[in-house]
Amino acid sequence: MKIVAKTIGIVTSGGDAPGMNAAIRAVTRIGHSKGFNVVGFERGWDGILANNFKKLTPRSVGGIVQLGGTILRTFRCPAFEKPECVKLAAKNLQQNNVDALVVIGGDGSFRGALDLSKVSGVQVVGIPATIDNDIYGTDETIGFDTAVNTAVASIDKIRDTAISHERIFIVEVMGRKRGFLALEVGICVGAEVILIPEKPLDLPEIIKVMNSNAEKGKRAGIIVAAEGYGDSSKLAQDIQKQTDFEVRLSIVGYSQRGGSPTARSRLLASLFAEKAVDSIYEQKGNSAVGLQNGIVTSFDLETSARGKKPLDLRLLKVAEMLSL
Ligand code: ADP
Repeated sequence: MKIVAKTIGIVTSGGDAPGMNAAIRAVTRIGHSKGFNVVGFERGWDGILANNFKKLTPRSVGGIVQLGGTILRTFRCPAFEKPECVKLAAKNLQQNNVDALVVIGGDGSFRGALDLSKVSGVQVVGIPATIDNDIYGTDETIGFDTAVNTAVASIDKIRDTAISHERIFIVEVMGRKRGFLALEVGICVGAEVILIPEKPLDLPEIIKVMNSNAEKGKRAGIIVAAEGYGDSSKLAQDIQKQTDFEVRLSIVGYSQRGGSPTARSRLLASLFAEKAVDSIYEQKGNSAVGLQNGIVTSFDLETSARGKKPLDLRLLKVAEMLSL
């Protein structure tokens, strides 16, 4: 068996996403099946800086495939943006005989992973896990499907009240600065309007849609707003002031980040992990893994960490036709 790297480290970093545990489990078990030792750093980058890690074995990762969150905990670690901290992390990895590091996280974590890869001899591999789905190079991230389903289930309930009371509901979903989550959720709940940072409608345009809907006999409506669109509370007040509608705001919030991962999030986690371990086994160098046109693939970490993932704005047009 060809093995140069003997120990794989795993770190989960940034915002948690449902399916991170499935990825930890899969890297550990697939790593062991290929002859590696596996250790998990706790609390994100901070665990590498503080030499805080534990051995992961096929048994110690049992019973977690269905759990949200991350058993390794996660942390936002602003210190890691400083070059001296990244160098300390590289030194600690070397001293602890870690030969390859799997970073499970979002775009910020990928940027940290890239910085680390520049100063360390350790092979760094990124596994995209974020409900925002905003990582360049992969069509989908671990956790996105779960968050979409959570938001859809929540908004379906809100729709009942919207219809019964003939109200407009603005429902704010997560996604940080991007609109991937809002766009997909908006289509799935049949939103009358979808507000995303990439193509923001202004207040007069939103009111025009609402008034034209009222003329068509639609007295209720759902506006799905990405958190990155702007101030949803002010928007609700403005629409109420300028129309005859009663408007309410509902923020889906952190329930989107947690909960048991869907089958799809677990599957992506398992397949991404297999690809990541394979690229370590094959010594392919610093890389990221992801889904491209239905195929799990490995690509350059730097391109992924620096790239901006495009959003398919044609979906907005589809949503518009669907809300006729
Ligand atoms: P996510 O990985 O979910 O996008 P963050 O954006 O908070 O979450 O990033 C996670 C961590 O990655 C940050 O706390 C920080 O330690 C590190 N990080 C973020 N941006 C950078 C950057 N530009 N350079 C180096 N490290 C970064």
